[in-house]
Amino acid sequence: MALELKHVTKIYDNGFQAVTDFNLEIKDKEFICLVGPSGCGKSTTLRMIAGLETITDGEFNINGVKVNDLSPRQRGIAMVFQSYALYPTLTVYENMAFGLELAGFDQDVIKQRVDEAAKILGLTEYLDRKPKNLSGGQRQRVALGRAIIRHADIFLMDEPLSNLDAKQRVNMRSELVKIHRSVGATTIYVTHDQIEAMTMSDRIVVMSLGKVQQVGTPKELYFHPKNLFVAGFIGDPPMNFLNSHVEGKQIVADDNSITLPVAPLGKEFVSKLEGKSLVVAYRPEHVYYEIPEGSTAKDCFEFKGVVEVSELLGDVQNIYITVGNAQGAKAVLKAGPNLVTKPGAEIKYFVKKEDMHFFDAISQDVIE
Ligand code: ATP
Repeated sequence: MALELKHVTKIYDNGFQAVTDFNLEIKDKEFICLVGPSGCGKSTTLRMIAGLETITDGEFNINGVKVNDLSPRQRGIAMVFQSYALYPTLTVYENMAFGLELAGFDQDVIKQRVDEAAKILGLTEYLDRKPKNLSGGQRQRVALGRAIIRHADIFLMDEPLSNLDAKQRVNMRSELVKIHRSVGATTIYVTHDQIEAMTMSDRIVVMSLGKVQQVGTPKELYFHPKNLFVAGFIGDPPMNFLNSHVEGKQIVADDNSITLPVAPLGKEFVSKLEGKSLVVAYRPEHVYYEIPEGSTAKDCFEFKGVVEVSELLGDVQNIYITVGNAQGAKAVLKAGPNLVTKPGAEIKYFVKKEDMHFFDAISQDVIE
């Protein structure tokens, strides 16, 4: 099923505008994640798609047909919530079968569908168990099973993994992708966890304050964030930002802690930066401690900083520094475990010109 949201807006009864002019076309069988910080309007958007919340303004279409006024049931949508609310006295089989039984389906059809869903979800041997004798991950799979057996063409999920522990979440992420492939339903998945979004989606919608900030594949959002919000939201640790401006042939930090020659950038691009308040940005993982192979000093920006502290995570370390001098802006650099650093020591690093991002500090948009 292809879905389309056209200029969708939600104003709640108390006058609060939770979603503003939301536009998105979703292709058949696509896996879309809505991400953004708490309160940005993700659940409201999902609930409007489900038909659980009225659309104040705009249009929601399924396969080209406007469905604003159809009930949730008429829209043919299955929804999985954060709290999976299984019936404690029913077995896994009965929990999954419940909805179809209410709808008056034949026992043979129900059994066939439950068995099929149980197979996809790895629940076949648990069908006789009660929910209390299952792990959190298994309970979540039962909740998914209830949605799968409805054979809905559209799946909506609202933070379905948030009740699981870290390890179960990682496992369920890859399982959800497999389940999506075998079920083939168009899926919209709400999460505030950018790692979930990056690992599962065909495309991600980043939202802030009720507005879409950017829509793109995980790669597009990571490599080409359109604005400062997306740049800061996608990536962990987040991108490093340095407020600066161009003075002659130098990029100068506003706090005067560092200057970077503009030479690696073309003249035409430099002219776009001149006279603007800039935010220069680079990812912690895009730094090198020597001029990177295949590059020359002319292709790179050379930074200096002062180490505050370093955190060894095993295979990598995060080095927290101040840029330029001890009063400079904060930044985080990733390094291999063997790079030796000491608090207070000076550190030198390089960023390739293609890994640098420049934003207009006033409009917050990327300069390309
Ligand atoms: P979270 O990640 O915390 O669930 P969210 O991005 O899903 O957040 P929504 O639940 O869509 O955010 O809420 C968006 C905004 O709308 C919030 O500021 C919220 O307080 C407000 N809101 C939600 N429901 C209502 C309501 N029924 N009446 C008025 N305002 C509401």
